[in-house]
Amino acid sequence: MADSIKPMIKLKDVTKVYDNGTVGLKDINLTINKGEFVVIVGLSGAGKSTLLRSINRLHDISEGDISIDGQSITKAKGKNLRLIRRNIGMIFQNFNLVKRSSVLRNVLTGRVAYYPTWKTTFNMFSKEDKQKAYEALQQVDLADKVYARADELSGGQQQRVAIARVLTQDPKIILADEPTASLDPQTSLKVMNDLKMLNEKYGMTVVANLHSVELARQFGKRVIGIRAGQVVYDGKMSETSESVFTDIYNGGDGNKEE
Ligand code: ADP
Repeated sequence: MADSIKPMIKLKDVTKVYDNGTVGLKDINLTINKGEFVVIVGLSGAGKSTLLRSINRLHDISEGDISIDGQSITKAKGKNLRLIRRNIGMIFQNFNLVKRSSVLRNVLTGRVAYYPTWKTTFNMFSKEDKQKAYEALQQVDLADKVYARADELSGGQQQRVAIARVLTQDPKIILADEPTASLDPQTSLKVMNDLKMLNEKYGMTVVANLHSVELARQFGKRVIGIRAGQVVYDGKMSETSESVFTDIYNGGDGNKEE
């Protein structure tokens, strides 16, 4: 195991201050290795989403550097930035599907980054890509929905379409921002199992923000606690006691009872 450890995401002295002066992240140093399944936990407003969005540069950071598989995404421009981003899949709380498009079409958009930017019609997709999309839908048990309109599906099914889309994108990293926040417990479990499949079967590195401690415990191999933009805990899940979660959720934010 030890000789296969490879840094996949590296944050060095990362600080993010929003335009209005709010500090989103404060001096974060973190290394996440290839194949890890990391859960980020913390109170609402702690900076979890800012952290994920900084990793794929949906947000620009104010200070420091973030590298993806050895390349600085902070400094990357143009084509280079697009190539780095292609290796990062994103799963959102609200699924981010094109609601009026078919499931197949949504899943195929995972391939868009592999085509030149001017080639953006549906017909551009190769037979091979359509096959890939279909196979991805089989992996999440939705092959029978291939021609359904995205908004005809339940929330859980829509999130699994988003997972099939990310599988079709074939990234090295998946960032999941509260992937189960709008789903019922049983559906949440199915979505988390799909993320686990991407991690275990395809070796993708998964970083997920989760509000549910129960799901975090069940699926995370490593847990990172964030409070007020800072890392306040980082450890293996197997070595993380209940009191750590209590601390992360009760400390700070003015809710402390002592
Ligand atoms: P979490 O995901 O843990 O709930 P966020 O990363 O969304 O936390 O937010 C971290 C802090 O940054 C909060 O204080 C939030 O209000 C602030 N914040 C988030 N987005 C913006 C923004 N676009 N402009 C200004 N402040 C923001």
